[in-house]
Amino acid sequence: MSSEKLQSVRGTHDLIGEAHRRHAHVVATARAISGRYGFEEWATPIFEDTRVFSRTLGDTSDVVTKEMYSFSDRGGESITLRPEGTAGICRALVQNGLTQSLPQKVFYAGPMFRYERPQKGRQRQFHQIGLELIGPAEPLADAEVIACGWNILEALGVAQDTVLELNTLGDGESRAAYRAALVEYFSDHVGQLSEDSQARLARNPMRIVDSKDPGDRDLVSGAPTILPYLTDAAARFYDGVKSNLARFGVPFVENPRIVRGLDYYSHTAFEFVTSRLGAQGTVLAGGRYDGLVAEMGGPPTPAVGWAAGIERLAALMTAPPPAPPAPVVLIPLGEAAEAAAIPILQALRAAGLRAEMEYRGNLKRRMERANRIGARAALILGEDELARGVVQLKDLGTGTQTETPIAGLPQTLS
Ligand code: ATP
Ligand code: MG
Repeated sequence: MSSEKLQSVRGTHDLIGEAHRRHAHVVATARAISGRYGFEEWATPIFEDTRVFSRTLGDTSDVVTKEMYSFSDRGGESITLRPEGTAGICRALVQNGLTQSLPQKVFYAGPMFRYERPQKGRQRQFHQIGLELIGPAEPLADAEVIACGWNILEALGVAQDTVLELNTLGDGESRAAYRAALVEYFSDHVGQLSEDSQARLARNPMRIVDSKDPGDRDLVSGAPTILPYLTDAAARFYDGVKSNLARFGVPFVENPRIVRGLDYYSHTAFEFVTSRLGAQGTVLAGGRYDGLVAEMGGPPTPAVGWAAGIERLAALMTAPPPAPPAPVVLIPLGEAAEAAAIPILQALRAAGLRAEMEYRGNLKRRMERANRIGARAALILGEDELARGVVQLKDLGTGTQTETPIAGLPQTLS
């Protein structure tokens, strides 16, 4: 009988060995740096009521129209695997009554799911880290959240490969005026727009500015920007973000074409982009989303945040991720030594050392394996050593061998 070998689903990846270490390093770095800014980690479910996303991401966004993994569960509820983290955080904020205790400063990390065409830098299951600063309405908050992202990129050694592109989407009044200007501009060229963008023209013309269709992109390059349509208040807010970014020492360029793919943004929109990853060059992106918590049924609550693709950050990292410490291996020879090995190993582990058993094979074989896994020392325990309460401690760096009392091993090796 032969069984077909099963494969992972298209657009998903296994994280093994160095790939996992890179991934874990990105998460650990982001957790540590954001912690210095006072962010605390939340974990929300990876699936939610479909309405958590359909209501908030905008019914003309790519994510909602074509990318969601939605299904009916056995009870007939419509469930969606989360395509992003912010909607679930806001759902949790409202559900847990935390709109009464602001600010909330949230860090998260985990898998996200989008039904996209798999290609370099684009998976169907990918992973994000993200921050949400919920409560403050000041432009200083936008700058601080961006500065934290910049510090994380610096700590990962990739900041110099990215450029922060900054824009504003203004307030409601600015956007209404801008929308009218966009409708006027695109209406004159409606025949040149992609089918998707023709539909967006009536429902959400700003979305066209974010279109990835090459034909649309040509038209977009001649479209008006929002800047002349900003109200005084919106322009002042934008100036506040820029002057505070300068105080944080975060370099940026202005790019009036950034509108962000999701509908819930207002004022600040930004992306850290790189030219080192080909077409999928956005590594970290976000903005202000003052309307989202209210969409979720909470009180009007200002907020600003970002998300970054872990795979793209890991691909940018050139330095190898930190490796686990080199282990010490124990090689017991004979049955009595094997029994005695267990408490020795456990004492080493209790002392915080990485200690492994070499299970089988002759001494030469086991020494070879110890070298192969990069062990720093081998502890050889034969019947004779056991009787005398010692091991042969072989330093695998220098090759020197010394007889060492078992009782003192944790201290000797620490
Ligand atoms: P893109 O323009 O690349 O489609 P997006 O606007 O859909 O990005 P966001 O929703 O802002 O992306 O997600 C934030 C970050 O998550 C992106 O900048 C990227 O690093 C990462 N990301 C988004 N979609 C994917 C994916 N399918 N595979 C890998 N990483 C992704
Ligand atoms: Mg996308």
